[in-house]
Amino acid sequence: MRAQILYGIGNLKYVEMEAPSPRPGEALVKVAASGICGSDVSRIYKTGAHNMPLIPGHEFSGVVERCPDKPSLEGKRVGVFPLIPCKSCPQCKEKHYEMCQSYDYLGSRRDGGFAEYVSVPVWNLVELPEEISFEEAAMLEPMSVAVHAMRRFYLDKKDDIVICGLGTIGLFLAMFISDAGYDRLWFVANKDVQMSKLINMGFPENHICDVRYGDPYRFIMDKTGGKGADVYFEAVGRPENYEQAIRCAAPMGKVVLVGNPAADMNLSKDTYWKILRNQIDITGTWNSSYLGDEGTSCTDDWKYVLERLRAWKDGSSENGFSPEDLITHRLSLSEIPTGLDIMKRKSEDYIKIMINAG
Ligand SMILES: [Zn+2]
Ligand SMILES: [Zn+2]
Repeated sequence: MRAQILYGIGNLKYVEMEAPSPRPGEALVKVAASGICGSDVSRIYKTGAHNMPLIPGHEFSGVVERCPDKPSLEGKRVGVFPLIPCKSCPQCKEKHYEMCQSYDYLGSRRDGGFAEYVSVPVWNLVELPEEISFEEAAMLEPMSVAVHAMRRFYLDKKDDIVICGLGTIGLFLAMFISDAGYDRLWFVANKDVQMSKLINMGFPENHICDVRYGDPYRFIMDKTGGKGADVYFEAVGRPENYEQAIRCAAPMGKVVLVGNPAADMNLSKDTYWKILRNQIDITGTWNSSYLGDEGTSCTDDWKYVLERLRAWKDGSSENGFSPEDLITHRLSLSEIPTGLDIMKRKSEDYIKIMINAG
């Protein structure tokens, strides 16, 4: 098969290699679509992966080609939960697999989806309903990450909700929060492509603060009658955005930290005072919940996402979002370096860069 292999930091090569053979409990999946994640860019160019050489790619879908343990899966279209939990640590015992202490991970610790074939544990396979496309299925992971963040706090219909940072996760948050019936949604954006995606999704332009022309704090105070955000999703990860999130939160407000940190986070004394005096709740969110066959849409973000995607398609929901609208580039497996380069140098506007099997 052909694959993109990361040999060391910045050293990604497109090579011909032996396709993996599934171990007991695993299936061989022929990859159909694979998304490039922001974390792939830092993994490949900055930090390297935990184990190298490694085939990156953790957002992918495909068809089960071979599954000796469960032949009934062969030929089935699948999405993939990329985290392989140990199932024996305290968090796994509580089924909080996203916080497993010694997990394996497709695309960061073991070979992932930037290849023609990948070996995946059967437990991690998500059978796809007919109406879900491979591209949508390759975005189940970032969609589930957004839903996980959305569900970290109880939201109230009256809440003023701010999403700051409109990359893939921020835009999916907008989709799912709006879909869940919240309309006092405000956005802090800094790119035209993000704003045009939001507007195409049906959000009013005057709900968006473009930080190039306006001050987010003043915008949010203005829109909320001087109260601030009841819930603020910080999906950037820069120190100044962390500080801004707390400044913009309402008394008793909630801040959900979503973005991976770009640097050390420092807080001014005034901002720290604000957390105390205004009794602000700050939480992190990590990955997504997935329970295999045992989950329901209440407990399993992946099931929730699949349920909502189906509702958007069959018209049973008044909202009909189309996740594929976030795809700005479609490339082939051999063109992955081109996609990574666009994201690294920000040389073109992009949201989601999708790799399709040729
Ligand atoms: Zn990712
Ligand atoms: Zn574990």
